[in-house]
Amino acid sequence: MPHALTLNAGSSSLKFGFFELGSDGTQDPDPRIVGLIERIGGQPHLRATRDDGTVISDAPLPPEAAADHATALERMLELLRAERPHAQIAAVGHRVVHGGPDFAAPVAIDAAVLDRLTAFEPLAPLHQPFNLAGVRAALAAFPQAVQVACFDTAFHRHHPWVNDTFALPRSYYDQGVRRYGFHGLSYEYIAGRLAEIAPHLHAGRVIVAHLGNGASMCGMIAGRSIASTMGFSALDGLPMGTRSGQLDPGVVLYLMQHEGMGADEIADLLYKRSGLLGLSGLSNDMRKLEEADTDAAREAIAYFVFRIRREVGGLAAALGGLDALVFCGGIGENSAPLRQKVCEGMGWIGMELDEARNLRAETRISTDLSRVRVLVIPTDEEIVIARAARDMLNQRP
Ligand code: ADP
Repeated sequence: MPHALTLNAGSSSLKFGFFELGSDGTQDPDPRIVGLIERIGGQPHLRATRDDGTVISDAPLPPEAAADHATALERMLELLRAERPHAQIAAVGHRVVHGGPDFAAPVAIDAAVLDRLTAFEPLAPLHQPFNLAGVRAALAAFPQAVQVACFDTAFHRHHPWVNDTFALPRSYYDQGVRRYGFHGLSYEYIAGRLAEIAPHLHAGRVIVAHLGNGASMCGMIAGRSIASTMGFSALDGLPMGTRSGQLDPGVVLYLMQHEGMGADEIADLLYKRSGLLGLSGLSNDMRKLEEADTDAAREAIAYFVFRIRREVGGLAAALGGLDALVFCGGIGENSAPLRQKVCEGMGWIGMELDEARNLRAETRISTDLSRVRVLVIPTDEEIVIARAARDMLNQRP
């Protein structure tokens, strides 16, 4: 039976999933092992679990065992060989953050595609080079397998032009300075789940709030992205764990002209020291902020909530109304207090939360009378990648 591997390589981490594909290629990929190597290039740690929840490994690795993405992948394969000596990896699916203006769907990776994706590195300098390091390591490890790139931007590629452009001279749009939008694999999963569990909502106007360490929102009609809060980079829109979210570009000019900050310093500030961490002075972790009894932690949460509520209004206007709001991501799926704050006083838009359902994190957390449905749907980006890998394998002669 063929297997697929999914890889999601970050700056210092490698997430992986091992899936059984079934014998005739029509079944949904079945996740059997998931794992993560963290702190690659530092003090690495390997965690992996089987589908029944048993832990295969949860231990530090010697630094040389995961000095870079290639050695980390090799370490991960050792674990896989020990667990599944007869595994046949026929397809490898990669999360690649940026597909630029070109790619609106998953693509089989060959040398020309890899060159094209490398050319997009300046569009996502903190993600794309690491994603591609994972691709190169997997190409070397599995030269016979189908390798598929799945893009966070692809789901949004059919935005109307007004949601795809900035008001800069046209030449910048033509050279790729556009509102791409991200978290597309998560949105694709949610759109697919909605089609299964609530087809009438899938056909309508839906806002999905993907609230994790990275956070964004997407307005969809009939399962297609119309607008998103993230733009050219994964910095725009909502504040995040450590990222600023929406910012007046004048602030960047001020930092350069009056604080003498260079591009690297500003990138460090906006990507790593801002957001919930910067505002609270405490943590990027929502659980810690909810437990903390400080004004700064409360204000950080208040700003996060304020921006989400503002975007609900803005996206509903872009959609011409609203039928459902879906929460997903680590915060969206797990924090009942946060969901409650977002939905408070939203009767004007037709939204009424059922507090008991919200506390139990039921799929539907709005009241029976609420005109706008409010839902909690756990997202699953890995299965979207595994399905794309299976589909590409099926197309191979
Ligand atoms: P990533 O974007 O890295 O995939 P996740 O989707 O895993 O992030 O989300 C991580 C965030 O979810 C963290 O801020 C974490 O505190 C938050 N989170 C997880 N569980 C809870 C919970 N029970 N209550 C509040 N926040 C939670």
